Amino acid sequence: MPPSHRPPEAQLDLLVASRGRSDRLTHTEHLPARQGRHAPWPESIRPEIRAAALDLGIRRPWTHQVEAMNLAKAGQTVVIATGTASGKSLGYLAPVLSELLTGTEAPNGRGSTALYLAPTKALAADQRRRATELAPERVRAALYDGDTPPQEREWVRQYASYVLTNPDMLHRSILPAHPRWSSFLKTLRYVVVDECHSYRGVFGSHVAQVLRRLRRVCRRYGADPAFLLASATTADPAATAERLTGLPAHAVTEDASPRGQMVFALWEPPLTEHVGEQGAPVRRTATAEAAYLLTDLVTAGTRTVAFVRSRRAAELVALQAQDNLEPQLANRVAAYRGGYLPEERRALERDLYSGRLLGLASTSALELGIDVSGLDAVLLAGYPGTRASLWQQAGRAGREAQGALAVLIARDDPLDTYLVHHPEALFARPVEATVLDPDNPHVLAPHLCAAAAELPLTEADVELFGPNAAALLPVLERRGLLRRRADGAWYWTRRERAADAVDLRGTGGAPVQIVEESTGRLLGTVDAAAAHTTVHTGAVHLHQGRSYLVRELDLEHSVALVSAANPSYTTAARDITSISVMSTEQTVAWGEGTLNFGSVEVVNQVVGYLRKRIATGEVLGETKLDLPPRTLRTRAVWWTVTEDQLLDAVIPFDQLPGAAHAAEHASIGLLPLFATCDRWDIGGVSVPLHPDTLLPTVFVYDGHPGGAGFAEHGFRHAARWLTATRDAIRACECARGCPSCVQSPKCGNGNDPLDKAGAVRLLGALLAGAPADDAEST
Ligand SMILES: [Zn+2]
Ligand SMILES: [Zn+2]
Repeated sequence: MPPSHRPPEAQLDLLVASRGRSDRLTHTEHLPARQGRHAPWPESIRPEIRAAALDLGIRRPWTHQVEAMNLAKAGQTVVIATGTASGKSLGYLAPVLSELLTGTEAPNGRGSTALYLAPTKALAADQRRRATELAPERVRAALYDGDTPPQEREWVRQYASYVLTNPDMLHRSILPAHPRWSSFLKTLRYVVVDECHSYRGVFGSHVAQVLRRLRRVCRRYGADPAFLLASATTADPAATAERLTGLPAHAVTEDASPRGQMVFALWEPPLTEHVGEQGAPVRRTATAEAAYLLTDLVTAGTRTVAFVRSRRAAELVALQAQDNLEPQLANRVAAYRGGYLPEERRALERDLYSGRLLGLASTSALELGIDVSGLDAVLLAGYPGTRASLWQQAGRAGREAQGALAVLIARDDPLDTYLVHHPEALFARPVEATVLDPDNPHVLAPHLCAAAAELPLTEADVELFGPNAAALLPVLERRGLLRRRADGAWYWTRRERAADAVDLRGTGGAPVQIVEESTGRLLGTVDAAAAHTTVHTGAVHLHQGRSYLVRELDLEHSVALVSAANPSYTTAARDITSISVMSTEQTVAWGEGTLNFGSVEVVNQVVGYLRKRIATGEVLGETKLDLPPRTLRTRAVWWTVTEDQLLDAVIPFDQLPGAAHAAEHASIGLLPLFATCDRWDIGGVSVPLHPDTLLPTVFVYDGHPGGAGFAEHGFRHAARWLTATRDAIRACECARGCPSCVQSPKCGNGNDPLDKAGAVRLLGALLAGAPADDAEST
């Protein structure tokens, strides 16, 4: 079959027309083609680099690249936050490589150096390739990661001028051994922080402190590198870059690269005849809908990738589409996911590129690095969590001349439902910001120790580590970790390495190992924080698409013993959560109501679990569990209303628990629209009469000790966040609450009680006193 030459509108018409699907298309956005805008190369870029760029087909840079090059040359901290495939890397590579090239003329051949940080090894390897394409060989670019052999490491330290690594290596290996890196650090001119939006939450907070440690060590060697960051487009990239580096940053946001026309459709799968929890209507899953749409697009000869969220879903979508298709087309559809061998993956990429494959169901493994441009259509089964991923995936479609089609298929949850009915949240100015909180004492403390071990901490250093550092140092001294000597500086006192005390990507507590009972094989681990709810005795646990029954959760040894099983039910933990206010940092009056931010203690106890039939969600029975309570000290945003407000909003006291609970669920579902968290990073509690506030109160808290900045971000943008929450609930077409609005898959109360209409009135009463949108602090 010849490849499709239908324009994207026609492809979309075809999807809508067949099988009576017109009511599923909630919005069509036409993104017009954009002409590129060039500018001449800045004088500061060396002719060798320009010539190499020309060989790669780059005659002149785009204007946003030139803006970044000039700022970098001036030694400014810059964040380039332009679209996917807009050439962000040339924007920082050209000034960095020019500087390094000039440095090769120094007597020792290394007059200047630069460090590149990527969140993944694969990206660092890809970037090393790009650097070698643009710069002559005498600019020595080298990878430095966990796979670098010891004999090569010495060479990198002594001779490489462009070192590509990741924050984990910087933290564990480079900074603790800085004297061995002294000649590299002395001449450090640039630090590139690529994909910086991925440094969010607790991980991002750790990385922010690692960068402060780097700046301090550099200072000691007399270097003051400029930071060049690349980010996906988010709200306020300059503020994020400042939080990450601790330095004032300039943002380059005006994208001057050309773009083909794109038709972006928003799609809501239909309701099915199944009923879920509390008799709620249930929609067809986004993956099932993706399989149908993939079938139709492949039948029409349209080269399509369907992005899904799990490996299992990738296999399922490919299988379903193959089942639906004629045999000669069925073998032109495949699945693509992490875990395949490199040669298998390359073969699939080749087949897609050549057109032998017409349809591919893929996890985000295809998102980065690999070039499969030239697709006709992209399906996204569920919002991929951030705008960055959304555009990265959608950006896979499109050829120069011909337009492309992208379809976002909503999953049955409040965020996706909101998005397909509020296209402005996707296509207008970004509302989602990258959130991190480097001042969290739980994050900061181990980095102060690591910094003191690197070089004794002086009074003058303290400011670099933020407003909480000064108060924390005496605490660390009392714990016997640091000692202040007569010279006034703090020293690390232990024999063990301070940097080993923190894993940047860890979430606290020893993870629970999942072990197969019959073979003793280790299947994987779950975070300590999630173990009680996910691998309690009797739980059905899914691992890489296979289901297991937990025989026993042994808390003493942090082991869950499981056996393979195929029960016809799933399990859902029931828990009891109480929350107390430790301190209120900020309170804002919203009319009679209040909005607050502060520290809380959350005590959670898993008390039992429900078994639910897979097909229908029908509850088969409840089993009690005897697990100890867990305590979390963290940060929360909470709001209160008065009895008069309840009266005015016609919420009788017996409806209040359901109304507050429903508002809490939906607000947790919508927070990821504003902050780069997912609903599993945050928790909530709603109380009709809270002992600390003596009022009806709804709390939303960070799920990590000390907080990760999400609740604080919710507090700062509460008017927009809670307005979106109310709108999402009100717009849902269900009668009494469903997973698209107020039901939550992680509710510890079996989604009972929930009062959808009451939640809309309750939020309305609260929001009536909210400040106007533009009065919000940012
Ligand atoms: Zn609903
Ligand atoms: Zn709940």
